[in-house]
Amino acid sequence: MKLTVKEFVEAIEEEELYKLQYDLNKGSIGLKSLVDEKIKAVENLPKKFCAVCGDGLVDKEGTFSIIFKHEKLKKKASFCAIDCMEFFISKIKKAKELEPSKIKSNIERTNV
Ligand SMILES: [Zn+2]
Repeated sequence: MKLTVKEFVEAIEEEELYKLQYDLNKGSIGLKSLVDEKIKAVENLPKKFCAVCGDGLVDKEGTFSIIFKHEKLKKKASFCAIDCMEFFISKIKKAKELEPSKIKSNIERTNV
């Protein structure tokens, strides 16, 4: 189920809504913790397809992933092989040359 924040607020029970309001008024520590945990879980989920060629990655070994920041958001892209990752990175380099402050990259190897 995919919800926007507005849809989420409209969907939750009244009691949860009051708890959320209380948390927000107290500095949102509970909500921040929930969001941080969910983002960590999402980032650890393996991607199903190569971001460049679209090949399936589920049963493939020796795939690669990068996590990078783009416009204040962290994004993850996975690749079937070094060639696809290099192609993607070359695109990031070109974008970085245009707007160097917007993209920071962090490369990690998965399924070694
Ligand atoms: Zn690929």
